[in-house]
Amino acid sequence: MRPIVAVSATSRPTEGAERVRLNEAYVSALHQAGVIPLILPPLDDTAAVAQVLGVVDGLVLSGGEDIDPIVYGAERHPATGAAHESRDNCELALARTARAMGLPTLAICRGIQVLNVALGGTLIQDIPSQVGGAQTHDGTAARTDRVHRVSIFPGTRLAGALESHDIAVNSVHHQALDRVAADLRVSARADDGVIEGVESCDPRWFALGVQWHPEELTRDAEAWDRRLFSAFAAACRERAASRKENQPLR
Ligand code: MN
Repeated sequence: MRPIVAVSATSRPTEGAERVRLNEAYVSALHQAGVIPLILPPLDDTAAVAQVLGVVDGLVLSGGEDIDPIVYGAERHPATGAAHESRDNCELALARTARAMGLPTLAICRGIQVLNVALGGTLIQDIPSQVGGAQTHDGTAARTDRVHRVSIFPGTRLAGALESHDIAVNSVHHQALDRVAADLRVSARADDGVIEGVESCDPRWFALGVQWHPEELTRDAEAWDRRLFSAFAAACRERAASRKENQPLR
């Protein structure tokens, strides 16, 4: 039995109707890693979110819109994009519930920001105007181009997953983590100091966040991003096995 993973999604008006959306790259990357992705709509219902996480083996927080700065107590910067309230509420509840349940979590781009904010951290709202000497993190390059280096800190779960301390990544973000939540530690930075990875400080909780888009890179010549999904899949399989053991006998 393969593990089943909930993948958060957005909604936006498309061809005359509000539609639930997720980039297909998440689906392929997860399926390729041996897990079954289930797309979860932006459901503004904390109890429903908790119920969903009770029947899956892992969670992926996907990329997307800027988080409403009101959530982390900041004034809105002019460059911050329009808020998606139901998605914010849904994903903050997903992250907090996953933390409480110890559910394996992979948080990508907006996802790493959701994870940090959900656990009490804050964000830099616009790298170009707020980080002196920053390199380009939101270029016009293709989503699969590895445009900047990232240093992975030795001894982190991320370094173990990637089997490397120095990689190159794609980069499609203008926001980044500022103050890191107490439950998280930094696992990776770009050369300009921008945080590119965080992970859970609790060894019992597999939670990795990355600021790049590994789901776009799993068909790349370099194996780093495939390894990241493999490590997540292994954590989800372990979770699925322990869930099975704990099921009551019929
Ligand atoms: Mn970047």
